Amino acid sequence: MMYSLVAEAYEKIEGTTKRLEMTDYLVDLLKKTPPDLIDKVVYLTQGKLYPDYMGVEIGIAEKLAIRAVSKATGRSEKEISSDLEVTGDLGETTQKFLEKRLQASLFRRPLTVQTVYRTLDKIAKTTGSGSMDYKINLLAGLLVDATPKEAKYIIRTVTGKLRLGIADMTVLDALAIAYGGGKEARDVLERAYNISSDLGKVAKVLVTSGVEEIKRFKVSVGNPIRPMLAERLSSPQEILEKLGGKCIAEYKYDGERMQAHKDGNKVMLFSRRLENITSQYPDAVQLIRENVKAKTAIVEAECVAVDPDTGEMRPFQELMHRRRKHEIAEAIVEYPISLFVFDVLYVDGRDLTLEPYLNRHKVLEEIIEEGDRVKIATYIITDDSEKLERFFEEAIENGCEGLVCKSVSEDSVYQAGARGWLWIKYKRDYKSEMTDTVDLVVVGAFYGRGKRAGTYGALLLAAYNKREDTFETVCKIGSGFTDEDLKKIPELLEPHRIPHRHPRVKSTLEADVWFTPRIVIEVIGAEITLSPVHTCAMGIMRKGSGLAIRFPRFTGNYRLDKAAEDATTVDEIIEMYKSQLKRV
Ligand code: ATP
Repeated sequence: MMYSLVAEAYEKIEGTTKRLEMTDYLVDLLKKTPPDLIDKVVYLTQGKLYPDYMGVEIGIAEKLAIRAVSKATGRSEKEISSDLEVTGDLGETTQKFLEKRLQASLFRRPLTVQTVYRTLDKIAKTTGSGSMDYKINLLAGLLVDATPKEAKYIIRTVTGKLRLGIADMTVLDALAIAYGGGKEARDVLERAYNISSDLGKVAKVLVTSGVEEIKRFKVSVGNPIRPMLAERLSSPQEILEKLGGKCIAEYKYDGERMQAHKDGNKVMLFSRRLENITSQYPDAVQLIRENVKAKTAIVEAECVAVDPDTGEMRPFQELMHRRRKHEIAEAIVEYPISLFVFDVLYVDGRDLTLEPYLNRHKVLEEIIEEGDRVKIATYIITDDSEKLERFFEEAIENGCEGLVCKSVSEDSVYQAGARGWLWIKYKRDYKSEMTDTVDLVVVGAFYGRGKRAGTYGALLLAAYNKREDTFETVCKIGSGFTDEDLKKIPELLEPHRIPHRHPRVKSTLEADVWFTPRIVIEVIGAEITLSPVHTCAMGIMRKGSGLAIRFPRFTGNYRLDKAAEDATTVDEIIEMYKSQLKRV
């Protein structure tokens, strides 16, 4: 197939502002394309060589492209650059200079799509020392053989500026018309695309095996599935109503979405935008390898930063330290992660995307072996809006963003690539920050694990209720302690250790060790939230809920100058909570 056919189609597409016309031109081009090239032509029309998830970019910098144009036209780089300043488009500049180079066209070997694709592929994949010159030579070679018009589009393609505006959906429309028997085929094609993220592959199967084969299209390990997304509502009542009176509500973890593809020992991880992020998360790869008990599987999980010492969840920002290409081994230690698995789309030859969610969840429970670092997302199944609200508060307090409430109906399939009402997220409609520190009393402690085995892993802290002369718990704290603190704290607390909860302490949590309220420490947190667990101000802001500090962290200040009764009071915590709400 001659590349000139592609260039001509590009020119027509570029010349129209009407979507229907654009589709017609694309239909024309696809019809002229032989089956063995259909995938390549589809990629090329979108300025690509492969589906996005493969992460292959042609990516030639404009400066290098200018050198190639100079070689091919015999004009100086300076001349080309100054013309570029006028046109603002190196493609157009190249076209212009090539038009002036008439005699060379006698030696042209007409370009085929195969040659262009193969050369661009080489340009994209060549790396290492000396690769720049090699790339420039390859590109210059193409330009020598190209007509001016072809050269324009080749240059735009290699510099990432093709921009014909051909959206995925336009390609699907065109494919349906050209090979699917009409627009009606669009839906099945779209589904095939949504479960493979690869328009070229869809085109190839359609052209070589027909629309019936597209109907049988299945998910496959290695092809990322476009993610299902959630709608949003702001009350449990509305959510339950929308989901038919009952739902499965899960913690909405605040991390990075990962779609893990496991094939034996090989694991690939894709981000929400379907980039291949496998190399950034060797620890997640290992967790999937060990905790997914199926030979082949596709599961979805939220990857969350956790405190290396306590295993508690950390805010989303901490995970961003993992978005790096270098020093990954260090990052794994410094910013460890946990995986919370929330869906399974494929297991050992079985495509689960069309199964109702409760079936998928059952399979999930069968194949996930939970451990310290891998868990199935915490969930409840309920038809009670009050229970849903409590569960929401609990999620927030535990470091989550809220809930994702999911349909349990028979038609609750995995809607790849769609934001729909089968999943509804419930997040807070305010954002607040805790600006002041608070001084809290240590009333209990929990034994540590891992690095903290043999000492306390977390402390139970309380605020002072003046009216009742009691201490009401407001957080469990495990962060902000240095090794020195970890040694000092048990020593400080030892004289106050008692065999049971102190009668003046109100707590629903069972600590491993209890203390007489005496030691006061300074704490900062992210914010104050409603809590079904902590007893501080229980029932005052909301029936059945207390207040808690989210993401508490020790500032390093021991307030040994303060008596337990000098600690921050429950009333002060209530005021802080109210002023947070006002600041919205
Ligand atoms: P947001 O910014 O609210 O995360 P979003 O557009 O990225 O929005 P949504 O589909 O609206 O995505 O919300 C669901 C997101 O929440 C998922 O993409 C996923 O990353 C995350 N998430 C956390 N826990 C769960 C869970 N249990 N089930 C589904 N998604 C979850």
